[in-house]
Amino acid sequence: MRKATVAIVGRPNVGKSTIFNRLVGERVSIVEDIPGVTRDRIYAEVEWLTTQFNIIDTGGIELSDEPLLTKIRNQAEIAIDEADVIIFLVNGRDGVTAADEEVAKLLYKSKKPTVLAVNKIDNPEMRDRIYEFYALGFGEPYPISGTHGLGLGDLLDEVIRNFPQLEDEEKDDDSIYFSVIGRPNVGKSSLVNAILNEERVIVSDIEGTTRDAIDTFIHKDNQDFVIIDTAGIRKRGKVYESTEKYSVLRALKAIDRSDVVLVVLDADTGIREQDKTIAGYAHDAGRAIVIVVNKWDTVDPGEKVMKQFEEEIRTQFQFLNYAPIVFLSAKTKRRLQRLIPIIKLASENHTKRIPTNVLNDVIMDALAVNPTPTIKGKRLKVLYTTQVAVKPPTFVVFVNDPELMHFSFKRFIENRIRESFGYTGTPIKIIGRKRS
Ligand code: GDP
Ligand code: GDP
Repeated sequence: MRKATVAIVGRPNVGKSTIFNRLVGERVSIVEDIPGVTRDRIYAEVEWLTTQFNIIDTGGIELSDEPLLTKIRNQAEIAIDEADVIIFLVNGRDGVTAADEEVAKLLYKSKKPTVLAVNKIDNPEMRDRIYEFYALGFGEPYPISGTHGLGLGDLLDEVIRNFPQLEDEEKDDDSIYFSVIGRPNVGKSSLVNAILNEERVIVSDIEGTTRDAIDTFIHKDNQDFVIIDTAGIRKRGKVYESTEKYSVLRALKAIDRSDVVLVVLDADTGIREQDKTIAGYAHDAGRAIVIVVNKWDTVDPGEKVMKQFEEEIRTQFQFLNYAPIVFLSAKTKRRLQRLIPIIKLASENHTKRIPTNVLNDVIMDALAVNPTPTIKGKRLKVLYTTQVAVKPPTFVVFVNDPELMHFSFKRFIENRIRESFGYTGTPIKIIGRKRS
């Protein structure tokens, strides 16, 4: 099932990012705080009761130095393009402003389901302030307080009531779905085209896919693949198309549906901060990852250069230590044929299951040589380990006290599992649980 997308729109300072952070709360799975990865999030997954959806803070999409009104207009446009339902946020302390009316006009014209939320209603006495917002024409305004977390439940109920019937996109095939992500101009479209020209493409444009991507079917090495191409879709003439934050949004939609994500870097320009942000999202989503260094034709040949670049990647992308790296050129197609087998390998590892007895032999052997840590006089005891999920492989370690299972111990278990079972291309998750 495709998840619905909700966008928060409104002029600056009404509290968009406050609300965004409230809604996302601790559910954002930044498990490890990785230095160097700046994560000013504009997009995250939220769960309310039993419904999961994606949320965008349009205020976080920086649109260069345009006049305020143009900026607001562009942000509203992105929301209209990308979201199924819009939360139109206004400031209850300021009353209706000209900028609010400007946003209202655009939203009204778009006919997108819109829920009006009046923020900064921090106490019941202030509720009267919502009435003037009826004038904006979106029906009942929902009073909320971002800082105090008030009214959000009612607001979300209404948002969810407005979700459209989403077409069922459940995959019922064994195809490996992969996508190509990266900042603008690294060569995503070129790479997709190169793959499609190189491989025998059987069917193009699978029916029923979303407007955000073109899916193409490939058969190779006795395996079906579907390439999800968001890079190829360009809404021409829109200012925001080239903004980096917007390209992140695109990447996120592709990641959502992928088994394997190709993170494309540009050998010509080298690694940029934005590369890490984009890769970080794929990692957080638990997808299999292959790093592609494109434009290798622009680099002087030689093994030494490749080694250097690889070291640079390993230093800058420590959190992707499991991701294989492919150096290639979409332009000359050099080394391109290495890509599909690596995607296949990453996907196989992403879905690999290890029998519990085999797993425990490995862990117990490792613990025999490396005793478990003692924290504040209490020793961690490992009872047994079992794999509970794939995509990504997830292992639960049953212990006497999960509080004693620190990050470094999880890392130790992860490393032993990787050494023994070879999980190239996929993140793995280690969870500590108390024996019941
Ligand atoms: P954005 O520009 O729309 O993303 O707005 P921010 O989330 O950055 O908030 C702007 C200011 O309003 C910040 O100083 C917030 O602390 C404040 N603010 C946000 N929500 C509330 C609220 O519910 N009540 C009050 N009193 N202040 C709020
Ligand atoms: P996207 O924005 O990531 O989809 O990037 P494009 O595929 O549009 O490519 C951006 C630019 O890089 C274009 O001018 C391409 O011709 C160029 N380009 C893409 N791949 C390669 C490559 O392998 N080598 C070289 N030299 N240029 C490339």
